[in-house]
Amino acid sequence: MTRLEFEFCESFPEKPTPGVLYISTTFATSMHICCCGCGHQAVTPLRPNRWSITFDGEAVSLAPSVGSAGLACRSHYFIRRNEVVWCRDLSLDEVTRGQVRDGWQQAETSKDAPPPRRPWSRLRSLFR
Ligand SMILES: [Zn+2]
Repeated sequence: MTRLEFEFCESFPEKPTPGVLYISTTFATSMHICCCGCGHQAVTPLRPNRWSITFDGEAVSLAPSVGSAGLACRSHYFIRRNEVVWCRDLSLDEVTRGQVRDGWQQAETSKDAPPPRRPWSRLRSLFR
């Protein structure tokens, strides 16, 4: 699935149609069937610290991305102007390497010899 229709509604239908992003302003929640076709309902509450919907008059965008933690199928994608933009799943390994790259870029002198861990790196990783 690469595109979603959208529908503003009061409450969600009992049998949601795949490919439709339902947006309930009454309940401040949006919902759609996972775009990978697994049939899972992806419910995305619209809150300042959760998801937000942008409607530009023609198309809707949902931010941030949908998936990974919330979906059993591990799908991960963005909805940008009705288009489904698929993301690669971030593996734990990549997350770790990302932290290393971000944290050690300046100290790193050789790719073969990673710099020693600083004590605060463990603390910092708790907040990622
Ligand atoms: Zn899925």
